[in-house]
Formats: sequence, structure tokens, C-alpha cells
Amino acid sequence: MEDSVKLNILQELIQINTVNGHEQPAAEYLKQVLSDHGIESDLIALAAGRTNLVAEVGEHDGPVLALAGHLDTVDVGDSNKWQHNPFCGQVIDDAIYGRGSVDMKGGLAAMVNTLIELKEAGLPKHGKVRLLATVDEEIGGLGSLELTRQGLVRDVDAMIVGEATTNRLEYAHSGSFDYRVKSYGHLAHSSDPSLGINAVANLARFFEYERHAFDDVKASPSLGSLIHSITVFHGGRQLNSIPDYAYLEGNVRTIPEFDNTAVQNRLQTLVDRLNAEMDGQFELEVVASFMPMATDPADQFVSLVQQSYQTVAGQSLPLAVSHGATDASRYILDEHRFPIVEWGPGREEMSHQVDESLSVAEYLQADQVYLQIAKDFFGDD
Ligand SMILES: [Zn+2]
Repeated sequence: MEDSVKLNILQELIQINTVNGHEQPAAEYLKQVLSDHGIESDLIALAAGRTNLVAEVGEHDGPVLALAGHLDTVDVGDSNKWQHNPFCGQVIDDAIYGRGSVDMKGGLAAMVNTLIELKEAGLPKHGKVRLLATVDEEIGGLGSLELTRQGLVRDVDAMIVGEATTNRLEYAHSGSFDYRVKSYGHLAHSSDPSLGINAVANLARFFEYERHAFDDVKASPSLGSLIHSITVFHGGRQLNSIPDYAYLEGNVRTIPEFDNTAVQNRLQTLVDRLNAEMDGQFELEVVASFMPMATDPADQFVSLVQQSYQTVAGQSLPLAVSHGATDASRYILDEHRFPIVEWGPGREEMSHQVDESLSVAEYLQADQVYLQIAKDFFGDD
């Protein structure tokens, strides 16, 4: 594939605004690009304007290698702060600018390029490469959840998630657990608080217990300590009323050794205990839950990817972990286990930034890396 063609695909993809909730035009665009190169793909609708895309090259028998990316981006924020129009896809020197260039239209376009190159070379000879392009990765992970439900990772033997990883190979990432604890009391005039139940005071007591609820959790050998923060505390409406409602919200960065289920159970136990001890009522609500992902760094797929990268880039690819969740949090909900690693073009810290940009050289190399991984994985020359 010519560099200009590859660059054009990424530019056009950036020019389609896919701020979370409007991914369908991008899915349709990629379907067209793939179809122009003789590759069939399916659009899997999730909601109005929201469509996943799944495409395959190769043979029906044999192992399955999945390339996973997402179509949505985060919001632009204050567009006045951008020097380059976030939907321009402009190339200046070695950089291509725009929302999603790094997170992760660059990685996704590179995966599309790889599929085209595989198709043109008649590869893989035994097995297939499946592209999964999802909606909603940046908010709820609904796209990857739906693909998992529909069994699209059931037969997968290994997966690469194409998020930017700053020239490192990520084999594990923390999960994320967002929750709300609601405290219900009873309204009364502040001149006679005994007639009421103070939801704020109760919640403050809950807070004191909860602060230390995870102190005993041992650190993960790969991901380090579980990280717990109470980030919102809200209650009361009127200065002279005993408040009948308050809530707090928090986030836990979960680890495989103490995952989202364990966190939820522990919070629920605390809620149940304090409900039994106190007047008033607490209620736990799960706002969002993304599981941690941890592939064994000794898994042979990890070293295969490192070697493939070395072959193409002529330099080593060090291992790393990250603390942000990805679509992998959904794909691991499938009942069978398979290795997942994250590698994609771009510097992770450029994600979600003003004037987000991706190195053109890195982008143009990325499909070669994925191609080499596919060749090494299937044993094709
Ligand atoms: Zn991303």
C-alpha cells in the first residue's frame, strides 16, 4: 500500500466527527474502504447512529487473531484552544493533527491497512484475522460488550488492542469501578433534629469506614496497589432542615487479585452492616464497571509480539502496564481465556489533549508491525 493511500484513510477518518455517540459514519466509511479492497465486513448496529464494524480476512479453519480498536473519540473540549481544527486531519511536518489521531484512529486505520495488505498477499494461509471496531469505548464500553455478547471473541486465540502505548507493549491494565452510595434519611426542621434522620451525618460516618475499606488489599505483582478515591460528597438542600438525602461517589482502580466483583462485594457488605446498625438507609449503585486485564507476561504471544516489533522497527519493545481501562475489559468477560496485549502508534499522553497529534512515521510503520505479528502468529512467510 502506498503511504499516501494510508495517510488518506487516516485523514478521512479524523475528518468524520465521532465524539462518543456518533460513530456510524466512520463505520460506514471503513466498510467502504475495506470493500474497495475486496474485504467483506458487517455493521452491527447498537443504537441510532451507533454501529460496530467487524471484518475478517483469511480462511475459516485455523486460529483467530483479533485486532481491536474503537471508533469513538472523547469530546474536543474548548475548540478555541486548538491551533489546528480538531477535525482537519492536517499533516504538518511529521505530525497528523486532529481529535482521535492518537486515541485511536491512528491505530484503527493501521489495522485496516493491515487487513488490506493481508488480503492482497493472500494471508493468512491457515486461520483468520478479525478486525473489531467498536462504539462507546470512551464512556461505557457498550460496543465491545455487545460484540462479546454476540460471541465475536469466543473463538479468538489472541488479541491486540491498538491503543497508543508510547512504544511499549502493555500486557496488563487496571480495571475501573465507579460507584455511588446513597444515604436516605428523614426530613425535619433543624429546631428539632430528633424528629429527623440526618442523611449527611450518616453518610459522613459511612465515609469514615469506607476510607479504610481497602487498606488490607495486597498489591498486585503486575499492577501495584488498588487505588481507591472518594471523589464526590453531596448532601443537604437547606440550612435549617435536617437533610433526608445525601450521596457520595468514588472510583476504584481494580487489580486482578481484587477485582470489580470483590470491590462491589466489600462495599455491599459495609452498606449492609451499617444499614443494620444505624437509622436511615444506604444504597450502593454501580455506575460503571470495567474489569482489569492481565495477560501473563511470560505468555508466548507477548514475546511473539515483541519479536515481530523488533523485526520491523529494529528496536526492542519493552513491557509495561497501564492504569486506564480499554475495550479489553469487556472482551475478557467471555468465558474462554486468551492473551490480550495492547500496542498501537502514538504517545499515550497525547490522548484526549488539545491539538492531539500522531507521528506520521509511527503511523506508517504501525500496519507493518501488525502485519508482521500476523505473519509470525500464523507462521506465514
Ligand atoms: Zn482509546
